Amino acid sequence: MSVTEKRPPAVADPESTGTMRAAVVHAFDSPLEVEAKPIPIPGPGEIVVKIETCGLCHTDIHAAHGDWPVKPKPPFIPGHEGVGIVATLGPGVTEVGVGDRVALPWLGYACGTCDYCISGWETLCPHQQMMGYTMDGGFAEYAKAFARYVVKVPDGVDPVEASPLTCAGVTTYKAVKVAGTRSSDLVAVFGIGGLGHLAIQYAAIAGGRVIAVDVVDEKLELARELGAEFTVNAAKEDPVAAIQKLGGADQAIATAVSPRAVEQAYGSLRRRGTIVFVGLPADNYVQLPIFETVLNGITVVGSIVGTRLDLREVFELHAAGKTKVVLEERPLAEVNEAIADVNAGRIPARIVLRP
Ligand code: NAD
Ligand code: ZN
Ligand code: ZN
Repeated sequence: MSVTEKRPPAVADPESTGTMRAAVVHAFDSPLEVEAKPIPIPGPGEIVVKIETCGLCHTDIHAAHGDWPVKPKPPFIPGHEGVGIVATLGPGVTEVGVGDRVALPWLGYACGTCDYCISGWETLCPHQQMMGYTMDGGFAEYAKAFARYVVKVPDGVDPVEASPLTCAGVTTYKAVKVAGTRSSDLVAVFGIGGLGHLAIQYAAIAGGRVIAVDVVDEKLELARELGAEFTVNAAKEDPVAAIQKLGGADQAIATAVSPRAVEQAYGSLRRRGTIVFVGLPADNYVQLPIFETVLNGITVVGSIVGTRLDLREVFELHAAGKTKVVLEERPLAEVNEAIADVNAGRIPARIVLRP
């Protein structure tokens, strides 16, 4: 684990000024601006959290670039791995108290009453709001959240490590559940970034034997340290051939930001195999064969983040010492440099920003 302590320059006490520093997207073709914004005021059912750290997920980069079919509306503050201390409560809040440490995940709000919400699939709620996308997120000194949709961070979880768990962790934990991994299954994880480095560990916890695929050698070294039994550098070797040589994957978890990698993940499956789509490249389409999907009994499934219960389980596993989070801390003011480094594959697994 590499945790670099880097302290940002001191800023004026926001409580005394009513303003905070935040990293704001003003346009999809320009860098984020770190600027002063008013500290949010909580409405009914809402809280305001003093952010300690917020991870930089590749989704924040897609959000800042307007990469996806459904786009956020600038100006907005990205960030959906915010962790911090509850500072103020809006009217009627009973779920958390001032001083509690909470995580502010992607699922910022769900209606609580639709078919999806009441059947354990709140992540599919059609009325949902997304932290750092449709609501201002954690790239700020303070963030507003719905008290019902934050998750308490238990004492046994290092607060900085809680940040990557809040999206990268819960998303891949859920993806492994959706994949249905059982003991002795061969699980191919494509993309060993923020998400992938945790996917390896959850697949192993479920009993799987893991093949890690990336295009950067350092990521594959890390994968081996985290328990991957096999590694393939897709820039040097055909991952489909390499994985088929091992008998084919029972499950493939596609986190790489590349449609080509998704097609390779599909090609690496054995009969009755399952591919879980997780990564969301700007180029939205892949070509998959119908004939082979039918004849080989392949399952193709999408998986979006995880529920509050999934995140509680992720925290529980981490508190029990079952997972390792690999991260590097940087000041929020360096968010644009951090984005460039993620795009270039120059980071260990996750960058965590400190306002
Ligand atoms: P990341 O940048 O940390 O990791 C991506 C990894 O893929 C890197 O290690 C990179 O080297 C590797 N890679 C790139 N091209 C590759 C290729 N051709 N083959 C194999 N590996 C390759 O990104 P991240 O934060 O882990 O996010 C990954 C993707 O998942 C993003 O598109 C993000 O938006 C998406 N995401 C989806 C969900 C969800 O709920 N489905 C949640 C969070 C993030
Ligand atoms: Zn994310
Ligand atoms: Zn709902």
